[in-house]
Amino acid sequence: MKKVLITGAAGFLGSHLSDRFIKEGFHVIGMDNYITGDSKNIKHLMDNPNFEFIEHDVTEFIKIEGELDYILHFASPASPIDYLKIPIQTLKVGSLGTHNLLGLAKAKKARILIASTSEVYGDPLMHPQTEDYYGNVNTIGPRGVYDEAKRFQESITMAYHRFHGIETRIVRIFNTYGPRMRLNDGRVIPAFMGQALRGEDLTVFGDGSQTRSFCYVDDQVEGIYNLLFSEYSYPVNIGNPHEITIKDFAEEIIKLTGTNQKIIYKELPTDDPLQRQPDITLAKNLLNWTPKVERAEGMEKTFSYFKQLSAEELNKSEH
Ligand code: NAD
Ligand code: UDP
Repeated sequence: MKKVLITGAAGFLGSHLSDRFIKEGFHVIGMDNYITGDSKNIKHLMDNPNFEFIEHDVTEFIKIEGELDYILHFASPASPIDYLKIPIQTLKVGSLGTHNLLGLAKAKKARILIASTSEVYGDPLMHPQTEDYYGNVNTIGPRGVYDEAKRFQESITMAYHRFHGIETRIVRIFNTYGPRMRLNDGRVIPAFMGQALRGEDLTVFGDGSQTRSFCYVDDQVEGIYNLLFSEYSYPVNIGNPHEITIKDFAEEIIKLTGTNQKIIYKELPTDDPLQRQPDITLAKNLLNWTPKVERAEGMEKTFSYFKQLSAEELNKSEH
């Protein structure tokens, strides 16, 4: 049985990836320090003999007994309000954490895939974004802690590939959503759905003309899975190119949830990218992958998840 280490396993994407690798017949070692994750996301795996869990901060030395075939490094805060709250940990997990995992990959002769992000493009001057665009990031702005950590992560990964010859993969993930997102993590989908369920107005930041392109989690996991088993070492965009303004998106969510609330406008956060849409030509050609789930279907499934949360969870405010 092939062994895969998944960091950030108690998070949104890490837990879905753990499910997928278990389903494909792998032995999964999940690792997380729960800083933005939740044990509830992997509760259903805890009794599975093919799943083991190590509570550990990946910025500290990582020790794994025996052989290891693959590593998926997904540990990192991923929501703007999370990485504004824990900026140093964000920088450390992308830099020191990635260094530890690359060292582990080298020692075990394992193939490693790292989770990068569309944020490496910053507030993009090229639209849609292709992998050869170098980006437009404000190094010293509040979002810089995440963007630069991820840019460093890509650089050190390529250095380990070139200098040590280890097998590396880099996925640039564009906004992905689905069940198990943390209701209060501040990202736009849980924020709007939580507001609709609590009977609050939906908070659109800025004038809502900024765009995003939302990918359903099952499509994202499929893309990542295909990339891991491809032979390509350079970054690959995985996301859904169906772009929408945040204002139109808020209106879609008002319709979907049937809420009587309205949209209210709040200040646009510093360096909030004005537009974002992946060019997925490379992923299509290389991985024979395209997203399959339409936003209406994905949002329906995500809303069903949020709806079944308890009133206590719904009203828990972390920020
Ligand atoms: P998440 O916050 O739900 O999950 C991240 C997990 O990493 C959490 O469980 C957290 O506790 C864990 N973690 C953080 N620091 C750690 C540390 N030092 N040691 C051990 N565990 C640690 O976020 P997510 O949406 O699942 O994102 C997962 C990865 O995908 C991140 O690397 C993120 O940057 C990347 N990504 C996600 C998106 C998206 O739209 N969801 C977009 C781009 C990139
Ligand atoms: N946003 C918003 N209202 C909210 C939360 C987010 O208008 O309550 C906006 C945010 O300013 C950004 C977009 O929605 O333009 C997506 O934000 P998110 O935090 O989900 O991810 P980002 O793509 O910015 O990392």
